[in-house]
Amino acid sequence: MNRFYITTPIYYVNAEPHIGHAYTTIVADVMNRFHELLGFKTFFLTGTDEHGDKIVQAAQAAGVEPKAYADKISALFRQTWPKLSIENDKFIRTTDLEHVRVVQYVLQKVFDAGEIYFDTYKGLYCVGCERFYTERELVDGKCPDHDKPPVERAEANYFFRMSKYQNWLIAHMESNPECIRPERYRNEVLAFLREPLEDLCISRPVERLNWGIPLPFDENYVTYVWFDALINYISAIGYPDGQLYKEFWPVAQHLIAKDILKPHGIYWPTMLKAAGIPLFQHLNVHGYWKTDEGKMSKSHGAVVRPLDLAPVYGLDAFRYFLLREMVFGLDAKFSEEALVQRINADLANDLGNLFSRTLAMTARYFDEKVPPFGSQPDGMDRELHDKVDDAVRQFRDEIPRLGFHKALVAIWECVGAANKYIDYVAPWNLAKDAALLPRLQTVMRTLLEVNKVVAVLISPFMPSTSVKMLERLGIAKKTSDLRLAEDTSWGALQEGAKVLKGESLFPRVETAGKKLEKPGKQGAAKADKGQKPREGKKAEAPAPSGVTDSGGLIDIDLFRQVDLRVGLIRQAEKVPHSDKLVKLMVDIGEERQIVAGIAKTHSPADLVGKQVVLVANLKPAKLMGIESHGMILAVRDGLDLKLVVPEANVSPGGKIS
Ligand SMILES: [Zn+2]
Repeated sequence: MNRFYITTPIYYVNAEPHIGHAYTTIVADVMNRFHELLGFKTFFLTGTDEHGDKIVQAAQAAGVEPKAYADKISALFRQTWPKLSIENDKFIRTTDLEHVRVVQYVLQKVFDAGEIYFDTYKGLYCVGCERFYTERELVDGKCPDHDKPPVERAEANYFFRMSKYQNWLIAHMESNPECIRPERYRNEVLAFLREPLEDLCISRPVERLNWGIPLPFDENYVTYVWFDALINYISAIGYPDGQLYKEFWPVAQHLIAKDILKPHGIYWPTMLKAAGIPLFQHLNVHGYWKTDEGKMSKSHGAVVRPLDLAPVYGLDAFRYFLLREMVFGLDAKFSEEALVQRINADLANDLGNLFSRTLAMTARYFDEKVPPFGSQPDGMDRELHDKVDDAVRQFRDEIPRLGFHKALVAIWECVGAANKYIDYVAPWNLAKDAALLPRLQTVMRTLLEVNKVVAVLISPFMPSTSVKMLERLGIAKKTSDLRLAEDTSWGALQEGAKVLKGESLFPRVETAGKKLEKPGKQGAAKADKGQKPREGKKAEAPAPSGVTDSGGLIDIDLFRQVDLRVGLIRQAEKVPHSDKLVKLMVDIGEERQIVAGIAKTHSPADLVGKQVVLVANLKPAKLMGIESHGMILAVRDGLDLKLVVPEANVSPGGKIS
């Protein structure tokens, strides 16, 4: 059986969980779920790193013992992960007894092999880093991490003969190009190894620091935090002879942020080599999230931490954003605006729309039951099917090589193609002619199959949405029971199975921090009686908030209350007994009946197929007894009337901002 073992760093308990921790842990969760989907036996490890100077200092500042302090922050990490739909198999703490034993076992083994020696070291020490620095590592005489000059210190300590492994490590990295990914980080480590590697001080005298794991061969010393922490990756799975260790260590992959590349890229492999333990398979390194907290606070009046936005906008949307926005290995920018944009464009408009249109039409035409393929698929059906197969392939190929955003782009290409397919095939026209029923069956079945495959492919990224979609497609499966090959096979939906249309998967977010209310619940207080398109319409909306007192100017929040959409006119007919009204069926992702006062300048035949801009959240009004759900925008030009149109064709329902 194929196996997969993924670890996050164990997080240092001197700070609370933040976006960086969350990203690493969510990526690990996505990778783990992906391998589960492939049928692998998987193990996903995370935890907390609890020893060292900095913890003692933080505990003192909090007025508690180090252990009590570590317990508190560690619990905070442990409780955060389930709130982000993260399902780790184990949470290790470096204060766990089993871990302490393994660290001592490894130390003794390396000591017995003669790879640890006692020496007096005089050097420059940074208290923040808990380590000595060499002159050339300092920047302008200061610690590069803390921007503080180190202090001179002489100390008798134990040293690990790391320098001895320099050439071996270079050779290993050159013959295993994938040992550190992406390649830029392998190059960074190799560049570092072009300078002579020094031995690593792995002890701290107890008189200076007693919050650590005692050296098994000298009780006057505790273990340096990195030599302690890195060993969690094997202690957690029962090194040296546990069953999990035997099963999972040979396929171990570590996931880290680039700030801890050096301990993972240099200390850890040389420690393993010295202890006679085989190396991990991959070290996967990601970049930083840049945040702009000042900017993010604008809409809330208080500083918003990115993690606080997850429950506001939804866990799945948050996970999707992180994985879609960051190219693995590079830095990315986190902003609430960008998050909202992704939710509205990719989730509400593309995926949510496809799903609700498909289910609404299945309900309308087939009594909420999966139809058979009534007729042979035509060229367009096959094209869409090919696109789906291609997405499955890219998903399978890209995730193992950390191309998360590429996998998502491929999935969303399917979603976009399926939305276009609906616009083009226009199932509502097929539904008018009983003779076209077999074709309508094939079209709707094709769409249902696309939705099902998409639901399976998003499962590692958006587990709850995946389950919800599958449920409504008549498939009751937990994500852990899904298998890529069988659950993405085309045509596998059960004919006659009950599907359920329901609420939208992703409500559109109207302004940052506010969920959109349903059209009709808000917006214009009075209906536009004449339905005569006019310019300057927007300013007529009532102003519950956001109006400035500066001469009729409005602020952006008020403008955003007007839901302007691009619509595609599917049908148009003159309203009997009226010389200026036309009745339109406009596609804005859903069908809208709109009565517009444009008959004098536009003939119904010319209107069909045109894209228009409309106010989608106008209160419904009745004109000549016909209901109108929206208003088309136009500009009066002398006697003529010109419709406002987008510069180029866009997907119906596209939001104007
Ligand atoms: Zn420092």
